[in-house]
Amino acid sequence: MSKVGLQGFLFDEKSSFLKGPRLAPPCIREAYHSASANYFAENGEAILPKNITDYGDFSIENYLDIETITLKNLNKDLPLLSLGGDHSITYPIIKAFHSVYGKVDILHIDAHSDLYSNFEGDPYSHACPFYNIMNNGLAANLHQVGIRTLNKTQRDHAAQFQVDINEMKDFHKFSMPKFENPLYLSLDLDGLDPAFAPGVSHHEPGGLSTREVMTLIQHIDVPIVGADIVEYNPAKDIHEMTAMLAAKLLKEIVSKMI
Ligand code: MN
Ligand code: MN
Repeated sequence: MSKVGLQGFLFDEKSSFLKGPRLAPPCIREAYHSASANYFAENGEAILPKNITDYGDFSIENYLDIETITLKNLNKDLPLLSLGGDHSITYPIIKAFHSVYGKVDILHIDAHSDLYSNFEGDPYSHACPFYNIMNNGLAANLHQVGIRTLNKTQRDHAAQFQVDINEMKDFHKFSMPKFENPLYLSLDLDGLDPAFAPGVSHHEPGGLSTREVMTLIQHIDVPIVGADIVEYNPAKDIHEMTAMLAAKLLKEIVSKMI
């Protein structure tokens, strides 16, 4: 009956600016179950609790334990959705996916390219996951959307790893990449404009609208084997509106996974 696995990481040790994302997974679950909305994705698919095998939320002592936990929860017959936590979780998650699927294609929505080799002395900072993924050859193709903070270091690393970046200033020219491998979707909520997603640690104006992100997800035309929703910071949220946004996007993403 269940069609998707779900795991949450209560982890924000790799956040460079504010803590808070470790509080996110239970808040997103609560919003998903809220009586203020139904369980349907916009394509009419019911995303019911019985369709989700919930492995629960995990407190993390050692960063790289995220890989071990993900491997345990990763069953090739069931796509796996992860709730963060800060964006650092994506590197150990992709390590686990690589063990099972080989090199995946990644669609990464974010204000930031997260391509630093280390940030303020931490090579595992939430500003680094995609450098680590590409530098270790864990993904075949990395496609980034919503990016609006590139500096020279990140442009250099993007060129080194042939990252396909659609910068926000060029979003009008965006078209869905052609995916060649199993697809992993990594959604950093600060990819949306802070007007739509106030509950994030890094407000970066000039971002995607909720509808643009929904349309993007709805136009994915290959199966998604894994996804994450990261960087929700309940401490910054207003009336739980970003939690409801995360829950809405969860339903859209799961409808693409089943
Ligand atoms: Mn990020
Ligand atoms: Mn970001």
